[in-house]
Amino acid sequence: MVTSRIDTDILILGSGGAGLFAALHACQAAPELSITVAVKGLLGKCGCTRMVQGGYNVALAKGDSIERHFMDTIEGGKWLPDQDLAWQLVTLAVERIRELENELGCFFDRNPDGSIHQKAFAGQTFDRTVHKGDLTGIEIINRLAEQVWARGIARLEEHRAVELIRTKDAAALSGVLFVDMRTGEYVFVRAKAVLLATGGGPTMYRYHTPSGDKSCDGLAMAWRAGLPLRDMEMVQFHPTGLLAGAHTRMTGTVLEEGLRGAGGHLLNGAKERFMSRYDPKAERATRDIVSRAMFAEIKKQNTSPHGGLYISMAHLGPERVAKEFKGMVERCADCGFDLAGGLVEVVPTAHYMMGGVEFAADCRTELPGLFVAGEDSGGVHGANRLGGNGVANSTVFGAVAGDTMAAWVRSEGALREPDSAAIESAVAICETPFKRRAAKSNLESLREKLFETMWERVGILRDGAGLEQALRELGSLNDELDRFALDGANRAFNLGWHDWMNLKNLAAVSRVITAAAIARKDSRGAHFRSDFPETGSLDESAFTSIRFDEVTMRPVTFTRVRPGQTLLKDAA
Ligand SMILES: Cc1cc2nc3c(=O)[nH]c(=O)nc-3n(C[C@H](O)[C@H](O)[C@H](O)COP(=O)(O)OP(=O)(O)OC[C@H]3O[C@@H](n4cnc5c(N)ncnc54)[C@H](O)[C@@H]3O)c2cc1C
Repeated sequence: MVTSRIDTDILILGSGGAGLFAALHACQAAPELSITVAVKGLLGKCGCTRMVQGGYNVALAKGDSIERHFMDTIEGGKWLPDQDLAWQLVTLAVERIRELENELGCFFDRNPDGSIHQKAFAGQTFDRTVHKGDLTGIEIINRLAEQVWARGIARLEEHRAVELIRTKDAAALSGVLFVDMRTGEYVFVRAKAVLLATGGGPTMYRYHTPSGDKSCDGLAMAWRAGLPLRDMEMVQFHPTGLLAGAHTRMTGTVLEEGLRGAGGHLLNGAKERFMSRYDPKAERATRDIVSRAMFAEIKKQNTSPHGGLYISMAHLGPERVAKEFKGMVERCADCGFDLAGGLVEVVPTAHYMMGGVEFAADCRTELPGLFVAGEDSGGVHGANRLGGNGVANSTVFGAVAGDTMAAWVRSEGALREPDSAAIESAVAICETPFKRRAAKSNLESLREKLFETMWERVGILRDGAGLEQALRELGSLNDELDRFALDGANRAFNLGWHDWMNLKNLAAVSRVITAAAIARKDSRGAHFRSDFPETGSLDESAFTSIRFDEVTMRPVTFTRVRPGQTLLKDAA
């Protein structure tokens, strides 16, 4: 069934900040190697790095320091981050932003004196977010894509990775099985080193922000390959997703945090402010607190027409709002809302997965030949990600992965024969829906079930009984997907088929999230259990690590600083 086979030295899955940085660094470090970027969409046009609005955290300014950025990251992550990974993030972000500007040609906004402008983002003690207006991601991805196009880096666009294939003795990775989405044919790519950089993507929640091409494929593949995933219960919700009805993909997309930062008010269905009942910082509290408060208000049924709440900016002066938030005002106008002078319906929306594949600081995983970077990886952010640390993470670790893979391929990399039975079995699983008789349900109703389960029971507020119920519901959803029938006569851009594969992966990763959430019997950061509302001892912080269905709690090693301490000299 596999119709073509390709060999390459380095194979990169995904073309976001992590994938493209890895390609450029590997190419620079070892120009003699063949490098292939394989991506579900079109290179430079897909994934979430392109969607970055706010910007990129990096300690550049006088008065700021990498120690301060580090402490913000550790405290924001509620002492769960791997401290060596977080240190790597904050130190190498400085190099990456210089590279983006001086070698790759990004233009970031500047101060009148010519220095880089850095704005305030929630949860940080210094204004350190570098940006290009509110279209920072487009600037970064366009420049990265141009540089990749200019080099001899091979591209497999509209190629969907479906399974990691080990060697026959299972000791190492051999390569990756793909579906060429343009034909529906199976392609096997053998590689000496493979980077998983498919960007996570919590699109299993009713309201979500990530791009539609993301369905946790990389995480699902890693999980099926038996790799350990950490912190999977930690899913970040952004408080202000646009709520414009189920008919539009605009629903769920982010209205930026700066609106609340500038003094925007959140109102319930009765048009009353409510945030001060939940937190003294009211609308300026952190994302997790605001999202929980909003969810609680929504549960009281005091909602806007679409079942959410409102954001109101008019008291700041419609002209000022229109000037300062031009992009947001236009986005709202596209959906019939007047952000500058009226009310806009909003709802918390699933934004980012802090959890992912466990990895070392040089991006190796425990499977020889497999490396990971970006949102597919876990451990950098712990229980919460600071806004602006996401794109820093993908670019920093993408570059590290490129350097590491180049060195690894030169020293010990080899093309290894795949386990042909594993390829056949992966193909057979993809073929499942074509072997069934006509479907009784449709994919929309199954997607609705997934949304319902994850939003209601594994979302912003959780409890043990709801999580156990969710596990049962996800099990039967998976069974229904396995019984689902599709017409396979035309495989070219067979969107139903890809949707089915998306849902299979989302259901699998949803079970992982749920199992980890059951295991964590405290509340911290993005994870809140109403039956365990207290945060456990920070000194005894432990992270969840899940391999297949087994979850273990593993202690955090405080390699640089312990709870109650700080690296900031002036704070002593
Ligand atoms: C609306 C929005 C705004 C954001 N704003 C900010 C911000 O201001 N600051 C910040 O720091 N972070 C922000 N983030 C988060 C940030 O975008 C991500 O953390 C980061 O870009 C992830 O980079 P990545 O390379 O890991 O993944 P992505 O950039 O998402 O790239 C993933 C790639 O993998 C490909 N892929 C997926 N599945 C497969 C498959 N099966 N086979 C092959 N390819 C596959 C995708 O097509 C894509 O090319 C924002 C996110 C969103 C959604």
